[in-house]
Amino acid sequence: MSITVRVSGGGLFTTVATPLTSATLLSLVDRSSCACASGAPLSIASAMTRAARRGRLMTSPPILDKIRFGIRAQGTLQRMTLDHPWTEPPAPADVRTVAPGIFWLRMPLPFQLNHINLWLLEDGDGWTIVDTGVGLDDTRALWERIFSAHLGGRPVQRVLVTHFHPDHMGNAGWLSARWQTELWCTQAEWLYAQYAWRSRGAADFEPRLAHFRRHGCGAEALVQLGRRGNHYPSLVPEVASEFRRIREGDAITIGRRTFRILTVLGHAPEHACLWDEAGRVLISGDQVLPKITTNVSVWSEQPGLNPLRLYLDSLGRFEPMAPDTLVLPSHGLPFRGLHARLAFLRDHHAARLNESLDALVEPRTAAELVPVLFRRELDSHQLSFAVGEALAHLRFLEDEGRAVRVVDGDGVHRFRKA
Ligand SMILES: [Zn+2]
Repeated sequence: MSITVRVSGGGLFTTVATPLTSATLLSLVDRSSCACASGAPLSIASAMTRAARRGRLMTSPPILDKIRFGIRAQGTLQRMTLDHPWTEPPAPADVRTVAPGIFWLRMPLPFQLNHINLWLLEDGDGWTIVDTGVGLDDTRALWERIFSAHLGGRPVQRVLVTHFHPDHMGNAGWLSARWQTELWCTQAEWLYAQYAWRSRGAADFEPRLAHFRRHGCGAEALVQLGRRGNHYPSLVPEVASEFRRIREGDAITIGRRTFRILTVLGHAPEHACLWDEAGRVLISGDQVLPKITTNVSVWSEQPGLNPLRLYLDSLGRFEPMAPDTLVLPSHGLPFRGLHARLAFLRDHHAARLNESLDALVEPRTAAELVPVLFRRELDSHQLSFAVGEALAHLRFLEDEGRAVRVVDGDGVHRFRKA
């Protein structure tokens, strides 16, 4: 999952991208990007920086000011209304009670976004695990320490995964086998995990390279994309060969709680959230995060998708929840203030859509829009997600009739203001 972050600096809010863990399908080609891998020449990134400067010059100051003030106001709102009951995460291999029967774990990730939150739920005479971390030795060692110290001799009897990205699915196969128990997840997430795990050949990469070529990535970047290969299997060494399907609307009893399954879209194909309405607890996965914003990208296998529309529509699913619902996100700190966060996320994307449109006074590819939305140099992981996210904004504007796609003789897609 790539995530974008808005940070305040020098009175301005700047968009940056953190590398993400969750492999969207780009991970299939190893999340390389249109820019350069670490240590490689920076010519493409530099070109994008120059494009960014052009973009700023083309962008009328009053509109930018409006956007910045709008975001500043929302940022203030967010700071005022998000309540973090815990200001520090649990230490490695430790657990923290966040609600009766629900324990919070932290696991490391080998990315700039360096952690994921996982949840251990009391479940009668055993335990349910929600999300699993990447399938690397250090994470598995931490799991073993947790099993020794914190399970009270009771077995794990269910492994539930919110979506297929490797920081969530990475140890699901291993944990299911270790505890002789089932993997619970939605059908599309299991199928995408299988797809990501199995996509290892040139025939799998070529459509993805074509996608990046079409959306403005240059030859050098494409060579690097092709050279790097699929890292999904290195982070998800095995995918459980069978699963128990969870579906929208299911009610799952875990211990003394009953969780309703909500499937939400835009970030992953059939992402599950777990909502305990009576207990006012939401396990939100990657769909609602307190600090960074969820990656929403167009990937090669569904070029006509409008994932930002799906994502924004899915945010509406959380509106009926009680204002004091405790949100347990996959990244960042647990919080209360869900509705303020939903409002911020909507405003954030509205501002980015306006910014994108403003930049389309001359036709731009998704790659050329990246420096407008992400105003700093991005590493290859970050930029790969950034291109997908820029394209998601362009697809949204296209569907709204606010932008028009122009395809040149080389098959490169550009978008201009309608
Ligand atoms: Zn994710």
